Amino acid sequence: MTLTDKRETLLAISGDKSDGGELVGKDPRKVSPSDLSLLFRARSPLKALRARCLDCCCGNSAEVRKCTATDCPSWPFRMGKNPFRAKRQLSNEQKAAMAERLRQTGGVA
Ligand code: SF4
Repeated sequence: MTLTDKRETLLAISGDKSDGGELVGKDPRKVSPSDLSLLFRARSPLKALRARCLDCCCGNSAEVRKCTATDCPSWPFRMGKNPFRAKRQLSNEQKAAMAERLRQTGGVA
């Protein structure tokens, strides 16, 4: 897709008079998923945040990890994970039940 195609896919002339006929970004909910898939590699918000942080640090993942901009809204998510989600902890009984279920189904859920 050329840059012109990309602009036509993602931008439109504003219908708001106060924008004076300028190009504005379309509502992404109104862009087809196939076009979005063609134009954007990250398909989840966390991956998009990680990609944004890498872009912010010129692709240097060590710099992303060491980022000191704690006022940035992306800071908690810069490693591509959601730290607000508690890591799932299984009891020994749950682990045994899961192993048994996997054994019975041959690993098919
Ligand atoms: S968290 Fe740090 S690396 Fe990520 S966008 Fe913000 S300033 Fe850049």
